[in-house]
Amino acid sequence: MGSLPLDIFHLLDPDVLASESRVVVDFIADYYRDIEQLPVRSQVEPGYLSKRLPDSAPYLPQSIDAILEDIREDIIPGLTHWQSPNFYAYFQANASTAGFLGEMLCSGLNVVGFNWISSPAATELEGIVMDWMGKMLKLPSSFLFSGGQGGGGVLHGSTCEAVVCTLAAARDRALSKIGADGITKLVVYASDQTHFTVQKASKLIGIPPSNFRAIPTTAASGYALTPDSVRSTMEADIATGLVPLYLCATVGTTAVGAVDPLLELGKVAKEYGVWYHIDAAYAGSSGICPEFRHYFDGVELAHSISMNPHKWFLTNMDCCCLWLRSPSALVDSLSTCPEILRNKASDAKIVVDYKDWQIALSRRFRAMKLWVVIRRYGVAKLMEHIRSDVAMAKHFERLVAMDQRFEVVVPRRFSLVCFRLKPRFEGDDASVLNRRLLEQVNSSGRAFMTHAVVGGMFMIRFAVGTTLTEMRHVEATWKLIQSKADEIIVEGPRNKVSSPTGLP
Ligand SMILES: *Cc1c(COP(=O)(O)O)cnc(C)c1O
Repeated sequence: MGSLPLDIFHLLDPDVLASESRVVVDFIADYYRDIEQLPVRSQVEPGYLSKRLPDSAPYLPQSIDAILEDIREDIIPGLTHWQSPNFYAYFQANASTAGFLGEMLCSGLNVVGFNWISSPAATELEGIVMDWMGKMLKLPSSFLFSGGQGGGGVLHGSTCEAVVCTLAAARDRALSKIGADGITKLVVYASDQTHFTVQKASKLIGIPPSNFRAIPTTAASGYALTPDSVRSTMEADIATGLVPLYLCATVGTTAVGAVDPLLELGKVAKEYGVWYHIDAAYAGSSGICPEFRHYFDGVELAHSISMNPHKWFLTNMDCCCLWLRSPSALVDSLSTCPEILRNKASDAKIVVDYKDWQIALSRRFRAMKLWVVIRRYGVAKLMEHIRSDVAMAKHFERLVAMDQRFEVVVPRRFSLVCFRLKPRFEGDDASVLNRRLLEQVNSSGRAFMTHAVVGGMFMIRFAVGTTLTEMRHVEATWKLIQSKADEIIVEGPRNKVSSPTGLP
């Protein structure tokens, strides 16, 4: 493809925008048409791309056709296809047509709503959408703008940002009482299953790394944090002069989907006066279905709760909802009012200026995206989406249970099944077997799963939830897993008890 004339007046020409966008949209639609045929986990070697692309930028403009051709040839092979129906790794990052359209509108309008006046609709829509979401999740009205008690919500790009901001608010609230040099005394509590983002955030806001407590969990509690263990850890810290600051509970832990007992933990948090945050990044979306809402009982005791619509709510990356009962604590920590941003509405304090609710100044119009998703699908379709993923996970769980060579190692929660090949004889290291199984499945390109090690046990995680996944994909993937297990067990180094069919 040749170069186009160098014409700066076409940088945002509406006709060019329309025609080139159509080409890109068609390209993406074709990608989704073919996605099932592509190897799910990319099969390239590190550094593959620099061998294929020029080592410096083009001086003259290039055509969109030439660029798309290179995407087809060079980029697509280096993608792990998160939207493939056979993607069961990590937690899904749901995409949908509405999520894509919302993202396109957000990006197309490209406003920067850091304060109200910089784009009133961006701020006001975000407030409305956060209340909509909060009501769908049946959050107490103290978390909603419409609750009239000072609560409200904000959209961040990630849970990590939400946790950093709430920790900063908690830290500053505590330091205002004990003095700034008390920072070395503050302690953050979570479980050994809590997402590493909390530990990272705690370091980022200046808490000494040795003051982060990853409280051990056990299989007996389903890897949930127990109130007694939190209480005794806090007591031990207080006895040495430390000051409990922040407790993070999780609904749907990353490794196994465990649910911490929110109500009991909330009571402990209250007793010790710590900031109580609930991380429901993945499983939060399930709260819109009445049958899952009980996992959130006790949320009324939290200071803040966050969940990621970009995981399980059909909302393309990126989107994290954070609600607070006292956003003013966040604003006290994060607000800045440089002269260049001063304006009547902000000075009168009659509006929300979302720059004071987040790390960055500039911000995307994410509310547009979430609003489009919610309107386009409605609560009914969103619930159906959650339920169908859970039904597929249940089906997979049954398939695993029917094959005696395998076991489900933690009770299934939501749409995550953790399983493994059982040890074949006394002293068999099942982790070797399962690592091989996982690698064989993933390198086949026909499915992609990831693993966790919990309580010393290596397990394979089967996270259902990619938008295109249907029951037939789950069944085909199970057959693939079984056939790889047949091969591994036959060729296994110490093949003592197994038969390829798994029959005793
Ligand atoms: C995915 C996940 C996170 C991290 O979310 P980001 O938005 O990537 O920061 C945190 N906690 C839990 C429980 C998660 O599943």
